[in-house]
Amino acid sequence: MIEIGLDKLHEECGVVAVYGNPEAAKLCYLGLHALQHRGQESAGIATSDGRRLTAYKSMGLVADIFDQAVLQKLPGSHAIGHTRYSTAGDSALLNAQPIQVDCNKGQIAIAHNGNLVNAADLRARFEQAGSIFQTSSDTEIVLHLVAQSREKTLPDAMADALRRIEGAFSFVMATRDHIFAARDPRGFRPLAIGHIPGKDGLPDSIVFASETCVFDLLGADYDRDVKPGELVVVGPEGMQSHFYAPALAQSQCIFEQVYFARPDSLVFGMSVQQAREQMGRYLAREAPVDADLVVGVPDSGLTAALGYARESGIPMQFGLVRNHYVGRTFIEPEQRVRDFGVKLKLNPVRRLLVGKRVILIDDSIVRGTTSQKIVRLVRDAGATEVHMRISCPPTTSPCYYGVDTPERRHLIAARKSVEEVREFIGADSLAYLSLEGLRASCGDLEGESSYCTSCYTGVYPTDFVDVQQIRPAVAVK
Ligand code: SF4
Repeated sequence: MIEIGLDKLHEECGVVAVYGNPEAAKLCYLGLHALQHRGQESAGIATSDGRRLTAYKSMGLVADIFDQAVLQKLPGSHAIGHTRYSTAGDSALLNAQPIQVDCNKGQIAIAHNGNLVNAADLRARFEQAGSIFQTSSDTEIVLHLVAQSREKTLPDAMADALRRIEGAFSFVMATRDHIFAARDPRGFRPLAIGHIPGKDGLPDSIVFASETCVFDLLGADYDRDVKPGELVVVGPEGMQSHFYAPALAQSQCIFEQVYFARPDSLVFGMSVQQAREQMGRYLAREAPVDADLVVGVPDSGLTAALGYARESGIPMQFGLVRNHYVGRTFIEPEQRVRDFGVKLKLNPVRRLLVGKRVILIDDSIVRGTTSQKIVRLVRDAGATEVHMRISCPPTTSPCYYGVDTPERRHLIAARKSVEEVREFIGADSLAYLSLEGLRASCGDLEGESSYCTSCYTGVYPTDFVDVQQIRPAVAVK
């Protein structure tokens, strides 16, 4: 049995919340389907019927976890949902979300997209003081902070807890009669607010989601993003906004635009599709090459390839086809097949590629091994030249803000020059989009950047603590 997967960075969570709808659990379930790309290892929903919270979570894909019978056991008019990716070692059901507790502030369920960089320190202090943790997830720390806060009201206790944590967080939380949504003061991870218009004089339903593709599915209108440093509370008294901390210099994750988010989403208020097309256009201007065809590596390289083709005037073809129905592990035939894992996922269209000089567009090179195999696939299919173009700068540093990256030593661009990477992957030429080109593609035209670009620069916006190195048991979601 071999584990297969394209060599990509992994997003580690998607969150959704619905308030004021008798079908809250079903809407959350649909929302999680739309966010499945943000995490495929576990998913869960917690609902409130006004008296108590009920949660259901399990390992696997949303479609495998929830059915009619399960959803019927999740009554109530408000709900939160979560879909999670984790590394193999911590993919236990224990760490699946939402995490629900009964504490001195009542029942609370929480779902988190991001990663707390002071989690190890806070947890060590709690444990020294006798606190017992149910999970190895950093998210549980927030519940301890809420429970131990001296503030009298729940919104104040939550604001107090949020001020004590550092790092990347977009939270949705449910209590008996409220939904809370919060974003960290640097705004690393997205979180959007929308509403489903009420029918027949009924009030609107409020929806929160990591990406606006959820709103399209639910028939919701996008209103705005939760602002960095904002805590939004929705309850019987309506929607209230609190700023628990002043916004800091913005560090929106630029890799959401490059790869993570769905192209049909607005992320940080910008169309992902447009941003990716711009990346391709900038790349064509910065790194032109004489060739016959532009081919995007599906799926996330396709839009940048379209931009490259439009800007360069070189035609784009779907020269690689992706099989979407391949699982994570596979039984390999005894007679080994070269590049078996990649071939299961991607197949070249020989008729298009034979005798052609091909520009391959992808969104990243992480370890380099997948790119090497893709270049080989395209050559074996008859391409006479393969020119690799990457729609972001070289990934040289790990992420501490909720993205699963290999250690620096496994990132090929941290160890090798562009020419050495080219040689390793076997391409005729290799070029990356510049940081300026990437920022400009994402609407950051001048002045101070509103994006985090740490995985390209190694310059981090927080005084980070690597929770994984200090305390291997603390899971990152
Ligand atoms: Fe995103 Fe990279 Fe910053 Fe992580 S380090 S938040 S992946 S831009």
